[in-house]
Amino acid sequence: MASFQQTDEGVSTTFDAVVVGAGFSGLYMLHRLREAGFTVQVYEAGEGVGGVWYWNRYPGARCDSESIYYNYMFSEELYREWTWSSRFPEQPEILSYLNFVADRFDLRRDIRFQTRVVSACFDEENSRWQIGTDDGATVSATYLITAVGCLSTANVPTFKGLERFQGRWYHTGNWPHEKVDFRGKRVGVVGTGSSGIQSIPVIAEEASHLTVFQRTPQYSAPAQNHLLEEEDIREAKERFHETKQKMRESPTGFPRERSDRSALEVTEEERRRVYEAAWEKGGLILSSTFKDLTISAEANETVCEFIRGKIKETVRDVKVAEMLLPSYYFATKRPVLDTHYFETYNRDNVSLVDVRKEPIVEITPKGIRTAETEFELDILVFATGYEAMTGSLLKLNISGRGGVTLREKWEDGARPKTYLGLATAGFPNLFMITGPESPSVLSNMPVSIEQHVEWIGDCIEYLREHGLDRIEAKEEAEEAWSRHCWEVADSTLFTKAQSWYTGANIHDKPVGFPIYLGGVGHYRNICTEIAEKGYEGFALQ
Ligand code: FAD
Repeated sequence: MASFQQTDEGVSTTFDAVVVGAGFSGLYMLHRLREAGFTVQVYEAGEGVGGVWYWNRYPGARCDSESIYYNYMFSEELYREWTWSSRFPEQPEILSYLNFVADRFDLRRDIRFQTRVVSACFDEENSRWQIGTDDGATVSATYLITAVGCLSTANVPTFKGLERFQGRWYHTGNWPHEKVDFRGKRVGVVGTGSSGIQSIPVIAEEASHLTVFQRTPQYSAPAQNHLLEEEDIREAKERFHETKQKMRESPTGFPRERSDRSALEVTEEERRRVYEAAWEKGGLILSSTFKDLTISAEANETVCEFIRGKIKETVRDVKVAEMLLPSYYFATKRPVLDTHYFETYNRDNVSLVDVRKEPIVEITPKGIRTAETEFELDILVFATGYEAMTGSLLKLNISGRGGVTLREKWEDGARPKTYLGLATAGFPNLFMITGPESPSVLSNMPVSIEQHVEWIGDCIEYLREHGLDRIEAKEEAEEAWSRHCWEVADSTLFTKAQSWYTGANIHDKPVGFPIYLGGVGHYRNICTEIAEKGYEGFALQ
């Protein structure tokens, strides 16, 4: 195990672990390893902590997980010290929470901000990572831990002519710190995923005119957000242990019960009653109303029809309502929650363009030209999502044993193969928090993040205790995990849809399904069992 060293200038360049990213994952990883006595350096490209909540400052940005479940659970004191204001917190409140955590555990002193990791090479002779940053420095660490997030690389579309646009343009995932003033402006929003649907109603209230460019209509459900009552908060804090256990054992990281009924075994009236109740309650519960909504196409169609009915009831202009009707399998794309999204299309200053019928051809100096017309715009907002799951990992330019890069390893197939989403063969001492083929984005992420951080922390402690300093996933274990991950996914409707889960939103990206759908609780048990068997499937040296 490497020990802490000082260079002549008094700046350390040798660490037990380098962690990349200071969002939910990186902050807890730093704390966990430091508590165990390891030296750690965190690098963060942003000026502050927070990860996606630092970058995504677009109007209306908020969380779709309920606040009382969207936080760390590793410390009861921390849970009791922080009080959320509303059911679904807005971005500034989540950012404040993560800053509070950083202060509470004195994390900043080991984080280097505004520093991007640009390379990482495994030095086989010394079993260490050589990590390069964009300020030209190189440090070395026994372990490289990526906490780069699944959604931290913005997907800016490559429309012809963007550089000639005379107005201003923004991507929701890289929003300026100062408020963007939409008053009196003609605004175009491109994209109607989660960020688009959150920002459109807010922008529409300010802009003189808003044109929404939609490729895929969405099944969005109302968040039904509200302030939390004192009683709710007291109860949540009292139930800390029970909630934590339920979340950890659950399929998706939420403490809610799942139905054991099929949508097809009940009467139409009963189904409607269940869907209406879930719609009224709001949040992400629609998808867990029946057990087979993501497995059976027929069951899925019942909830699709219910939501289409809601859209038709809400949107007054029949033609616009028709354009807003989705047709993919419900929940096979990122579920979307909204606050008055469909109602926004009843405003006089909002219009909708279907870019599947009328594709965007180019950005002109004055706006957007589609196949049919030119829309003059002062501000363009790209709500076009992220290069999900692998984008930020590949940008690290990681090269492992024999100089093989992660890009080379993952390029030749649709699947970014990993062992448990935590490690990948050929890359010793590399750990990925919420890496591909773990439950990650199809779970309440803080629960999955904590599980990974604790597993990695325990593993590194185990290696220290046993005088080992090298661990690598075996190819056969990885192959089996990757196959299992795909088979589980392929028994559902998820692989039958085109989504950012499958990589279909990125031109030329091979389509796969890099998310483990076996359930958060089940996955945790698998990982624990592997550790208990002396890290079965890994080679230790
Ligand atoms: P991130 O928060 O993405 O942080 C990664 C950090 O790594 C970033 O700050 C980035 O700057 C840094 N980084 C990346 N590459 C480098 C590099 N090369 N060098 C230095 N630094 C680097 N999850 C839920 O569970 N529920 C929700 O409701 C929910 N809502 C979301 C809404 C939005 C708009 C977005 C974008 C995501 C949402 N998520 C949600 C997912 C969210 O990503 C996770 O919940 C969680 O915040 C991820 O934390 P993280 O630390 O793993 O990654």
